[in-house]
Amino acid sequence: MRELKAKATKATKPKPTDVVASSGNLSAPQFDFQSSTLVAADDPDDIKRVGDELEGLGLEFVSSFVGEVGNGNDIRFWVDIWVGGVRLCDLFPRLYHLDRSKEGRVAEKGKWVDNIWCWEWGWVRILRGRVCDDFEDLQALLQNVAIKVDCRDRWRWAFQENGDFTVKVLTKLVEEKTLNVASEDEATIWNKWVPKKVNIFVWRALQGRLPVREELDKRGIDLDTLLCPSCGDMVESCSHCLVMCNFAMSVWEKIYSWWKIGIVNAFSIEEFFTSNGNANIPSHSSRMWQAVIWTSGYFIWKERNERVFKGKASSLNKIVQDIQLKSFEWIVRRSGKKNEMNWQHWLYDPVRCRI
Ligand SMILES: [Zn+2]
Repeated sequence: MRELKAKATKATKPKPTDVVASSGNLSAPQFDFQSSTLVAADDPDDIKRVGDELEGLGLEFVSSFVGEVGNGNDIRFWVDIWVGGVRLCDLFPRLYHLDRSKEGRVAEKGKWVDNIWCWEWGWVRILRGRVCDDFEDLQALLQNVAIKVDCRDRWRWAFQENGDFTVKVLTKLVEEKTLNVASEDEATIWNKWVPKKVNIFVWRALQGRLPVREELDKRGIDLDTLLCPSCGDMVESCSHCLVMCNFAMSVWEKIYSWWKIGIVNAFSIEEFFTSNGNANIPSHSSRMWQAVIWTSGYFIWKERNERVFKGKASSLNKIVQDIQLKSFEWIVRRSGKKNEMNWQHWLYDPVRCRI
């Protein structure tokens, strides 16, 4: 895993969007990681992945960033955490509902008059009834706030004492939370024709260290259900998710039939990932076949996460097409043998691709 340090860690943070998907009773806020300058120096995929994992574990990535207000230009008044340790929209939902500018920055909620900061409000109607009590409470809370003229807002990352966000620390946190520490002498298998993230996925799957519901439950995380999000019939273990679930098996069957190697003859994660799916493949193709198997496992896991975190399901054919396309792209790019890899051969008789 790359050890990455984010640039400008204190001044910016990922933008949460409105999407909140449900996974058991966990909610998973989504980020627009691409547009965040926080991750300018990092691989957005890496951050997104660890962020998703963290949320899968019930640790909220969004709320792990706490604002320290300066001039108020970066912190959003209602929806970021910057005063009182909670979001003001959660603390004062009625007021939030009545504000005309729900996404407005702190700086937009007032102005300087003779060097004194004065709050200014834009309510959609006159406040009356219980809302007036809320408003008094809000004003009392804001009395402790000092807006500064020329000092930028800062973001502190709550999981790190010095407030700096780093992927390295986030990754470590996820590992500590999900996984037992791996023994040093475990042999690591590696396929250089697929990206590092796929290698890491396979390594973790082989050790049963993916955050499936059974594993989360073992670690004391409270979930509504332990059943598989794809079939709803069985407890979601690593091997169910990647191998035994009807959904996973249908993907494997399609992949075997694409490679014209008969029926699926593997029934465990080990058989797929370390014994090349117990398939009879000519030796010149075995590394390529391994890359395909690993890519397939990775896409089954990816689809599982799309279903759990985004409520989106792709068709079997779409998933298989993605596997064909991605494995082709990855092998072409990583082997550097573009001329030997022919897309038509790849689709209709992949064993003919000899590199
Ligand atoms: Zn299932």
